[in-house]
Amino acid sequence: MPSCENCGQKWKWKTIVLKTLKLTNKVNCPYCGKTQYIVPKSRKITGIYSFLPLFVIILSNLIFELEVRDVILLTATLLIVALGLYPFLMKLSNEDKIVQP
Ligand SMILES: [Zn+2]
Repeated sequence: MPSCENCGQKWKWKTIVLKTLKLTNKVNCPYCGKTQYIVPKSRKITGIYSFLPLFVIILSNLIFELEVRDVILLTATLLIVALGLYPFLMKLSNEDKIVQP
């Protein structure tokens, strides 16, 4: 679980997921109040997360020949799983490192 880069306190899984759902990576530390940014542990993780939905749709169409309804269901399930794992693949930083190329 990620910990604050400023005070070192470990954050709760819930805190990360709720902030992610609000589509922001800028979070004030619940312990010391300093602004922290939720950033991926490595660039590889960002890549997996951005291609996952597309990958699922293409794969399910080509190989499994699923119906649209099943594809939506599969994508929704994967998104929930991805979101559940999200805090474990992230770390907290004093700077927003995602902006850098
Ligand atoms: Zn802190």
